[in-house]
Amino acid sequence: MQIQFCGGAQTVTGSQFLLSVNGKKILIECGLFQGRREESYEKNQSFLYNPAEIDSVILSHAHIDHSGNLPNLVKSGFRGSIYATPATIDLCKIMLKDSAFLQEKDLEWVNKIKRRGHQPEIQPLYRIQDVDATMELFVGIDYDRAFTIGSGIEVMFRDAGHILGSAGIHLEITEGGKTYKIGFTGDIGRPGMPLIHDPNVLRELDILIMESTYGNRLHESSDNIEEELAKAVCETASAGGKIIIPSFAVGRTQHLVYVLHKLFDQNRIPDMPIFVDSPLACKATEVFRNFPGYLDRETNRVFLTDNEDPFGFQRLSYVHDVEESKKLNSMTFPHVIISGSGMAEGGRILHHLRNNVHNPKNLVLFVGYAAKETLARKIIDGQRVVKIFGEEHTVRCKTKSWMHSVHMLTDETCLIMSGLTLQPGSNIYFLFMVNQISRCR
Ligand SMILES: [Zn+2]
Repeated sequence: MQIQFCGGAQTVTGSQFLLSVNGKKILIECGLFQGRREESYEKNQSFLYNPAEIDSVILSHAHIDHSGNLPNLVKSGFRGSIYATPATIDLCKIMLKDSAFLQEKDLEWVNKIKRRGHQPEIQPLYRIQDVDATMELFVGIDYDRAFTIGSGIEVMFRDAGHILGSAGIHLEITEGGKTYKIGFTGDIGRPGMPLIHDPNVLRELDILIMESTYGNRLHESSDNIEEELAKAVCETASAGGKIIIPSFAVGRTQHLVYVLHKLFDQNRIPDMPIFVDSPLACKATEVFRNFPGYLDRETNRVFLTDNEDPFGFQRLSYVHDVEESKKLNSMTFPHVIISGSGMAEGGRILHHLRNNVHNPKNLVLFVGYAAKETLARKIIDGQRVVKIFGEEHTVRCKTKSWMHSVHMLTDETCLIMSGLTLQPGSNIYFLFMVNQISRCR
């Protein structure tokens, strides 16, 4: 058996692991690397293996840094099955389409410049039709059901408690008369968070391969998050300001809506309008509604038993079309806008930031991870002047961040594990902190 680390290495995006066992090649995750445009394009374009030779893909969850390069894999010749939970498949459908759409849009103006300079145009990594072809290959398997994807290769999804449908992958591999149990964590959720189940621990393993994005920090407790959000909303509203929250469309936005709903019901925030201004978040929320069985007991107790919608309440509006979104700019009274993208690299949040960062009464609240070089990171780090749509804007609003910069551990700890080969008979427990291992050939 051989495990090759093909992505998500020394960085937190682009997860990909290649497992070669019993003559089969199995790809675990096929994430999109996200960073500067040219570097991303180069890394995402060039696979470290031949996609046509991959027998199957196992996917832990729908986030783009784990699933976003699948259509390119299919475009490059992959024809096997992609195994994931049913909720992951439904989320992938909307997220991969959104990713294809954003790529084409992003390249529109780049290619305009290229054409002017008589340079060859850049093609997107994939288009909508590649996403359609990808969706045909998905096979839905629920949690805790063992399934076989080749001789001596048994797989089981365990609830990872990270986003709807997210799974840790448990593999039982029999090779040369020996059996190994391997766990791939994917992204692991935090126990005690509202909405989705607590993570179900992968047990009795010989090898554990683990994402380590937040490996060196403690998270705030979920009670603190409620309290802090209530405080931030109350203070800003009483000063007459707006609260702008850049948020990831899938997972984080639904969590925020849930918490705001609860705070509103308990009279802990003022009676003010709240907008989710993100077409992707609107679609993703529909998927959450379609899988009540994946939501945790508290959500079911608090909301579903009373026939209430956890993702909707009287003061909350989902903004679908662009014209409605533009109207938000002219509103002068306090309100909350949750909009994408989470790292403020694209999407409608850019318009809201452009219109609001100059006002000292407003608050921009960052609730998720922000990678280096992104607009979110620059504002969090206190950069006074930022560029939005190519123009300079002075940041005078208040800013708050619940997640500070993520430090990767140093190279010394980046094991060595390139192209690891396990000897049958060895009985050692390996733990790989994925984000610290080098991408390897
Ligand atoms: Zn994730």
